[in-house]
Amino acid sequence: MARNEFAETLYDSYGQHFAIDEVYFESRTGHQHLLIFHNAKFGRVMALDGVVQTTERDEFYYHEMMAHVPLFAHGQPRRVLIIGGGDGGLLREVVKHRSVEHVTKVEIDAAVVDMAKTWFPDHSQGAFDDPRFHLVIADGAEFVRRANEAYDVIMIDSTDPIGPGEVLFTNDFYRQCERNLAPGGIMVTQNGVPFMQLDEVRKTSRAFRDLFADWHFYGVAVPTYIGGMMTLGWATQDAGLRGQSLEVLEERFKTAAIATRYYTPAIHRGAFALPRFVEEAIGK
Ligand code: SAM
Repeated sequence: MARNEFAETLYDSYGQHFAIDEVYFESRTGHQHLLIFHNAKFGRVMALDGVVQTTERDEFYYHEMMAHVPLFAHGQPRRVLIIGGGDGGLLREVVKHRSVEHVTKVEIDAAVVDMAKTWFPDHSQGAFDDPRFHLVIADGAEFVRRANEAYDVIMIDSTDPIGPGEVLFTNDFYRQCERNLAPGGIMVTQNGVPFMQLDEVRKTSRAFRDLFADWHFYGVAVPTYIGGMMTLGWATQDAGLRGQSLEVLEERFKTAAIATRYYTPAIHRGAFALPRFVEEAIGK
């Protein structure tokens, strides 16, 4: 690989590459290899262990859909737990909800948070300083195992199931998350791009089936998570929340007066319609 090029290593026989205008930061953090660089099309790009995590240009697709779908479906979320999400983009969207009183973010790698504050200030937009926010530097799986909490929404903003993120895709982890949900609580998860990583939804669906009264996946096509639509997992004991009506979502969205660039109540509703091959993989 030429030094002025970043070639993603997620897949063996196919991948994306980026011209690097400037490397801002590169280090082995103790947990993973962290690289932050500038690309003319995508702005600042963060990669962990050779895999693109987030870019300035397209981060809003993923962060808005991971945050607002469960938060608006819930209606009155007060306590939120984010696992991973070191860059702060998801946190930025969560703190836009006025009903939220407390957000804990458990990130394994302090270097990701520190470097995101320096190089991705537009991701967090001051959210790290929000008085409702609490940062814990720890393994998310370890944290939920020890915790005895009642979160209204748990968001798993993880890397792919390689390296430190692998534990965030296990049955035991999902079980511990379920134990830490309040009645009517919702968990959402980063579940890969099914065209490329169909086993991820398959495996997660088997775990959800045993643990939750209602579970499904919803889609968003993030340009730099290549291979088409990505799936986010949805799991809750309250079977009414997934089918929240368009009228209710529109009313909540209007009252919240949150400015979005991707999320709309109509996209929220439609995102739960999955391609047939994904339905088959998850046994629906
Ligand atoms: N949105 C991105 C995506 O879908 O590829 C992922 C964003 S975020 C940068 C992923 C974060 O999860 C990273 O900061 C990483 O350090 C963190 N992470 C990985 N394994 C973890 C674990 N076991 N506990 C907590 N955080 C973890």
